[in-house]
Amino acid sequence: MERIISIDLNDDFIRRLTDILEEDFLRRNIPLEKVAIVFGGRRPALFLKRELSRRLNGAYFPPVFFSMDEFIKEVAWRKRPAKMLSSMDSSFRIYELARSAHPGLLGGSRDSFAAFLPWAEEINGFIEQLDLEEIDDDKLRQVQESAKIGFDTLKEVNFLLKDIIQLRKEFHASLKKEGALTRGMLYMSAAGCAKDVDFVDFEAIIFCGFFYLHKTEQKLVKELLVRGKARLIFQGDESEWEVLKDLSGVFSEPIKTNSRSHRQSHKLAGGGLPSDRQSQKKEPRINFYRGFDLHSQVGILREKLKELKNPEETVILLANPDALAPLLSEISSLDYDFNVSIGYPLKRSAVYSLFQNLFSAQLSRKDNAYYSRDYLKALSHPFLKNLNITSANVSRVAVHKAEEALTGAIENELAGEIFIRLDKVAGLRLLLEEAQDTLKHMDIKVSLDDIAMTFRELNHLAFGVWEDIGNFYEFSVAAEKVILALLEKSPLEKYAPNLKVAQKILELIEELRSSKFCREKFSKEEMFRIFTKRLEREMVSFSGSPLKGLQVLGLLETRSLTFKNVLVMDLNESILPKLRIYEPLIPRDVMVSLGIERLEKEEEIQRYQFTRLLCAAENVHLIYREDRETIRSRFLEDLIWKEEQKQGEVGVVKIPLYSFNLKVLPKKAIAKKTNDMIESLKKRVFSASSVNMYVSCPLAFYFRYCLGLSEKEDLFDDPEAADVGTFVHELLEKTYAGFLNKKPVINERFEKLFFAEFGKLFKKEFSRKMRADSFILENILRQRMKKFLENEKERNDIDALLMLENRIPWKIKTKSGTFDFIAGVDRVDRLSGGSLLVIDYKTGSAEMPNVNLDELQFCRKAIKHAVKSFQLPVYLWACREHFKAQDVRAALYFLRACEIKEYLQKSTPQKKEENLDACHKALAFILDELVNPEVDFLADEDAEHKCAYCPYSSLCR
Ligand code: SF4
Repeated sequence: MERIISIDLNDDFIRRLTDILEEDFLRRNIPLEKVAIVFGGRRPALFLKRELSRRLNGAYFPPVFFSMDEFIKEVAWRKRPAKMLSSMDSSFRIYELARSAHPGLLGGSRDSFAAFLPWAEEINGFIEQLDLEEIDDDKLRQVQESAKIGFDTLKEVNFLLKDIIQLRKEFHASLKKEGALTRGMLYMSAAGCAKDVDFVDFEAIIFCGFFYLHKTEQKLVKELLVRGKARLIFQGDESEWEVLKDLSGVFSEPIKTNSRSHRQSHKLAGGGLPSDRQSQKKEPRINFYRGFDLHSQVGILREKLKELKNPEETVILLANPDALAPLLSEISSLDYDFNVSIGYPLKRSAVYSLFQNLFSAQLSRKDNAYYSRDYLKALSHPFLKNLNITSANVSRVAVHKAEEALTGAIENELAGEIFIRLDKVAGLRLLLEEAQDTLKHMDIKVSLDDIAMTFRELNHLAFGVWEDIGNFYEFSVAAEKVILALLEKSPLEKYAPNLKVAQKILELIEELRSSKFCREKFSKEEMFRIFTKRLEREMVSFSGSPLKGLQVLGLLETRSLTFKNVLVMDLNESILPKLRIYEPLIPRDVMVSLGIERLEKEEEIQRYQFTRLLCAAENVHLIYREDRETIRSRFLEDLIWKEEQKQGEVGVVKIPLYSFNLKVLPKKAIAKKTNDMIESLKKRVFSASSVNMYVSCPLAFYFRYCLGLSEKEDLFDDPEAADVGTFVHELLEKTYAGFLNKKPVINERFEKLFFAEFGKLFKKEFSRKMRADSFILENILRQRMKKFLENEKERNDIDALLMLENRIPWKIKTKSGTFDFIAGVDRVDRLSGGSLLVIDYKTGSAEMPNVNLDELQFCRKAIKHAVKSFQLPVYLWACREHFKAQDVRAALYFLRACEIKEYLQKSTPQKKEENLDACHKALAFILDELVNPEVDFLADEDAEHKCAYCPYSSLCR
């Protein structure tokens, strides 16, 4: 039996390993359970078991599997069991040592643990590397001496380097005293005791598929090798990979493959495809694609997946976890089983965002009152809003009613309050009754007591449990209550990855609860900061059924595995390879002088894993992103260059840039009319704006007026144009009311009253949205209103003001019947010449109808371009009938420019009538079409520019 074997890079590692197990153990009657197999991770063991089952075709006792971490622990524990220190405790220990004996590390501004934590984690990481690589004091002493002169870095770092021997000793000593170890110490301990540990239970310990090994790992493996216990199976050849060459030196044996193909295999990523292989393995077919962003890459990937017939033999290498969500949403529609195993950042989860909302509510709390906006944000999180207390429906309605109450959509004493108290909301009877009433309409009978209880429990979980926490023990109790309630009563479990996230958070909570510092006093802000930082660092690994379906894996998860089809996304620099180009704490030259080479070797490690995966595949699809900010991966560049060399021509590799039709508007989006819909449309009272909406986009009309969907107003949001419009209309109605049936007189007294009303109304309309900068809006509006009054003073031709903010009914007869309208006019003036002027105030821009409709074609599209708006014609007809007067004019009053633009002002009376007549026919045509069952509600073909701002854009895609 050879002690060290290396398999060709283009070979299937698991199959060759199975051959070895058959050959060297089963044929020699050595049972597999007497063999220990150590892989880099856990996944290859599953694939090996499957391969063994296939070969042995029956039940068998498998080998004993370990990941490297598990094996190290096994070795150390066979000598002496020890407790593992959590990373939080480890950081706190560094903090304590810094406070007591190395205050220079704290600097001036990092006195608190929360502020020091990022430093503590870096120092911890540095000490762990020293331990993993067994860096001794002699080497560190040289660094210490240099630090006395000073490295070109922060003074705290120089301070750390000057003190590092002492700090590391004290750190180790304090942990040993209580029988605890860090990961680095565990590795040192295993390496140190390997010669004394008994392994009689194993005939052989096989280390499989390793590439880079820390010094402690090397020491341990070498010891077992010397004792004749270990066997090493590598993949690749030392002549191609520096890392393997180094290991060959350490183990004093060559790491060489048997096939001559090794001479070429390394060059796959760095130098082209093998050309003189003796093995039968064909070269992989490599295809390159360019996408213009993440989503287009996912689109390319989906298209390629559709062409593949064997998902079981396919892997998607996902180097960028951000791509996971869009990728899953695409591949889940492909009807494949798939398995995801990739570290996914916990901070992208909905549970993380819930905690952020809860923390924000606590931090903006003033005494016993919560900032209304944060209060609603916390309660409106989908997990809380749908908590099954009485039932999920009751919670949801209760939260919506609370929102309506606080934003003033329901009139009540809390409306518009910036800060609110929990008991006031839960005790607001009107709110409970409103919720009960809404639930009754949903056929849900529930008592006021149950609704009140729902509120109390929601308030307790979202706010109450956090109010009095003063240390991490209390924090952990609160956080656990929230997570357990979510697990028990929320829809969290409907999305399986959330369970992993919840489990991870429970582990963190447990770590905090059992930490050394859990009873130490911390401010809430510090605790939230520490917990948030910790969540931000955490990755959750999803694993479904690893042996079934398409595999979505990170680079490390592909170790030792082979797939026929390999698809890689985001083949761009800084993603693949992903390199930490600088050490945040310790200067790179210090690391190199200490012999800590992991970072130096990182590029080679990733290149090796990538090359290994590609070498053994048959079909490879490589996708990268091409835009101004990203450049393609050096791995990809190498492959392209080699292909060019092979074909003897630069630029011969043409990479298609995929484009997708991303038109926002689906031209075929339609809604059919039903008879009920038509009947209801015939009975509806129209306004000019509803008809305008139909003319502009029938589908938008359908969403708004047939389905009754309208945008929800966020009453806490910044004031928008609509709010300003409402304010100005209300102000002008109130202040001009005294002029009804009189000639308006704008004098000093009126102006005083006008601006007093302005102040009152501004406060009422904008108080909910008041921010420090609201005075700017107030000043602008004041200036505009001043100009408006000046303009009004100059309008000497007004005889009397006849009407203010009035709704005038009007009817129009068409082929389909009579349609009712309401004209909501802002103001009607009787002018000195006897004519009436209908005015519509505009605070923004607006379109005037065309003055020439001579050649008007009767189809919606032509009417849209010609008539533009039916507002002024409808107002004019309505006023003619209402006042029984023929001489009616209509105008838009633009308040921003203080300009009145009159409709058809320059037309002769005859032209004016002809124009109005054409408008009348156009309106009749539109209304007939609206109730015509043969004409569907279609998305307007030219609406694209509007679609971007349309509230229904997500519905019609
Ligand atoms: S998004 Fe465009 S097509 Fe769809 S309803 Fe709105 S305006 Fe019409």
